[in-house]
This record gives sequence, structure tokens and C-alpha cells, in this order.
Amino acid sequence: TEQTFSILKPDATRRNLTGAVNAVIEEAGLRIVAQKRILMTKAQAETFYAVHRERPFFGELVEFMTSGPVVVQVLEGENAIAKYREVMGATNPANAAEGTIRKKFAQSVGENTVHGSDSPENARIEIAQFFSGNEIV
Ligand code: ATP
Ligand code: MG
Repeated sequence: TEQTFSILKPDATRRNLTGAVNAVIEEAGLRIVAQKRILMTKAQAETFYAVHRERPFFGELVEFMTSGPVVVQVLEGENAIAKYREVMGATNPANAAEGTIRKKFAQSVGENTVHGSDSPENARIEIAQFFSGNEIV
């Protein structure tokens, strides 16, 4: 069993969709083993998305991720990292498969409702940025 890091982004909290997104997560067999609602600071968002620092959309991304509350989560299950990426759907909701979270709920490539780790190494780093071990149960 594996863990991945998830964020329900500000467009999800703003539209009162956290329960609906969590239902898709749980129906996919992923277990929510840690969860909290926070307002990310600019510094936290910049650290979190540091790999995208040079991308043209970086400023917009940090602005969006700090524009309202997010729900940070640790999800656990068999192949959780790949499975959650599948459940999320493509980054651009226009390309997302039927039944995925982004197809159901996302509004644009920027405001795309969820984040999920893309590798075991990043999952470890991202979980550690927001949770201490005793918060994951
Ligand atoms: P995430 O990392 O949030 O799970 P992802 O791995 O599918 O999404 P990345 O390529 O890592 O996509 O991009 C990170 C985030 O940056 C995207 O989820 C999206 O919010 C934003 N983003 C990516 N491409 C664009 C773009 N062309 N314009 C605006 N925002 C973008
Ligand atoms: Mg990514």
C-alpha cells in the first residue's frame, strides 16, 4: 500500500465541492488518512510549486492557490499515486476522461480542482511539507 498527497484547490472549496470530490476519491477505493483545511501562505505555495518557478503561469498559480482555503490530504491505497492521477484526470479538464474529478468539476487548466503527487519521491516531500507523522492515521 502507498500514500499520495492531495489538495482540493480553492475553486473546490469556493464552490462547496469538497464532499463531492471526497466521494469520488473514496469510491475509487482510496482512503483519506489525513485531512485539514488551511489557507496557504504565498511562501508555502511558492515552495510547493517550486518546480514550476520558471513557467509563465507561475505567478497566476501562486495567486490562485492562495486565493481561498484549500483542503490538504494524504490518500492511501494500492498504487495510490497512479490511481489518484487517473481519478483526477488530465491537467486540462477539456482533455479529462469521463468520470474523472477534473471532467466532473474543473473549470479551466488553472482552476482544475485537485492536485495529486506525480511520483513516490514527490509524495514524500509534499506530505512532509504539510503533515507530521502523528496526523496521519
Ligand atoms: P498538479 O501538479 O496540480 O497535480 P498536474 O500535475 O496535472 O497538476 P502540472 O503540470 O504539475 O499539472 O501543473 C501544476 C498546476 O499548474 C496545474 O494543476 C495547474 O493548476 C497549473 N497549470 C499548469 N499548466 C497551466 C497553464 N498552461 N496555465 C495555467 N495554469 C497551469
Ligand atoms: Mg504536477
